[in-house]
Amino acid sequence: MEDAIVIGSGPNGFAAAIELARAGASVRILEGRDEVGGGMRTAELTLPGFAHDVCSGCHPMAVLSPWFRTLPLDRHGLSWARPPASVAHPLDEEPAVLLRRSLHETADGLGDDARAYVKLLRPCLSDPHGLLADLLAPLRIPKHPVRMARFGLLGLLPATTALRARFRGRRAKAVLAGCAAHSILPLERPLTAAVAMIFALTAHVEDWPVAAGGSRAIGRALASYFQELGGHIETGRRVRSLGDLPPSRVVLFDTSPAQLAEIAGGVLPASYVSRLARYRYGPGVFKLDWALDGPIPWRDPRVLEASTVHLGGTLEEIAAAEAAVWRGEHPERPFVLVVQQSQFDPTRAPAGKHTGYAYCHVPAGSTLDRTAAVEGQIERFAPGFRDRILARHAMRTADLQEENPNYVGGAITGGVADLMQFFARPVARLDPYSTPNPRVFLCSASTPPGGGVHGMCGYFAAQSALRRLVRLRGAVPPLAAPRS
Ligand SMILES: Cc1cc2nc3c(=O)[nH]c(=O)nc-3n(C[C@H](O)[C@H](O)[C@H](O)COP(=O)(O)OP(=O)(O)OC[C@H]3O[C@@H](n4cnc5c(N)ncnc54)[C@H](O)[C@@H]3O)c2cc1C
Repeated sequence: MEDAIVIGSGPNGFAAAIELARAGASVRILEGRDEVGGGMRTAELTLPGFAHDVCSGCHPMAVLSPWFRTLPLDRHGLSWARPPASVAHPLDEEPAVLLRRSLHETADGLGDDARAYVKLLRPCLSDPHGLLADLLAPLRIPKHPVRMARFGLLGLLPATTALRARFRGRRAKAVLAGCAAHSILPLERPLTAAVAMIFALTAHVEDWPVAAGGSRAIGRALASYFQELGGHIETGRRVRSLGDLPPSRVVLFDTSPAQLAEIAGGVLPASYVSRLARYRYGPGVFKLDWALDGPIPWRDPRVLEASTVHLGGTLEEIAAAEAAVWRGEHPERPFVLVVQQSQFDPTRAPAGKHTGYAYCHVPAGSTLDRTAAVEGQIERFAPGFRDRILARHAMRTADLQEENPNYVGGAITGGVADLMQFFARPVARLDPYSTPNPRVFLCSASTPPGGGVHGMCGYFAAQSALRRLVRLRGAVPPLAAPRS
């Protein structure tokens, strides 16, 4: 009998499995797809020789995650391709804003708001790794309470309120609104200021990298390290019921709360299952990948220096677009997130050619084709872009959910992370990774601290499962057995 079965091999499934294996537990991962990685995958979606990241494309959270930083993944074939700038934010009729590692160089591009920008970010940079360790954690007493309290006072505000209070010009407001929009929340909601600050902070600590060879290289390196620790992986093993599981002491689900309920509902109290059913997943995304005849012809050529490009114009425009998506609408000019992998990793496309990657937020379950709107936003800041397209591949919300059942309604970050559901995910519980069944755990992005390739959900879920394993010595009955 295995100590632990982990269902799913996304970053959090691997984090849980690796932490358990590091503690000496025997662990087996069951992955539904034919390859490991979950959100970290790469495929030739358009033409031969063009390697596209199917889901995650840019990895500041992986290089800065307190858990990832403990892993010897370079020994397992992972290397990062780093750009000269993390984010470019083009604006109409003026140069783009560039978010660079240097706080002062970035501030220099913000005109009259340069000092206000430095004043906002500098306190976060005195011990950024300590602050990130507190932020990428479940609700607990922070290790740096004073710094967290200072961060939290401003971070709790809506991005619109905080940015309008701090800045006068449109450049600083726009670039931070683009960062806040990663929250996939209306920017008038509390906590979106924190998301803006966290993303900006990461850009001043690391240049947002892409994985050399594609995001799949991260999954492959994690698999290789896990197997070196003695772990086992079975791919092509979609779990539909507890009867599909080999015997084990504990089971960790790198799945949505909906799948946890579907698969393990029989061994969980009905009250807990109905709370899982009330979990909110939020808007989805519409994603496009292109094979391109050359780099994107940005009006401001410096935009090519950034791995990530935020397209949406001013704070007001971005806020309006994100609010519309929350009302169930498809804005004419959506906020578009572009990643330029092939600028920094030549393995992604044949010589002289490039890959293009972009998505916009859409209402949950949207069936609309947003190609014209997404390409329109790129064309707005890069006239002639459409002439460079050799082939395109589109994914609507249903395609994303088909790709990975965790993307419920096309939601890509494990569920809404608003004030209510940021810590209380999937439900309000002292140990959110545990369930009322002492042998069943959730370890996916639907637990704190939520979406992104950082592995922290899996790391904390493993700590919870390890505490239980200590008490479960000796033989235990199969989990599928009816409870007495
Ligand atoms: C389009 C897109 C763009 C993104 N961009 C970024 C980005 O640039 N940077 C970033 O940090 N994050 C990004 N993300 C988010 C990131 O990919 C996710 O937050 C992260 O992968 C979540 O990790 P996870 O381990 O919780 O789940 P997942 O990565 O979703 O992995 C879950 C795994 O479990 C498997 N599984 C599910 N159900 C079962 C079952 N019943 N039986 C067996 N196996 C099962 C799935 O096949 C999958 O492999 C993006 C996501 C998408 C979709």
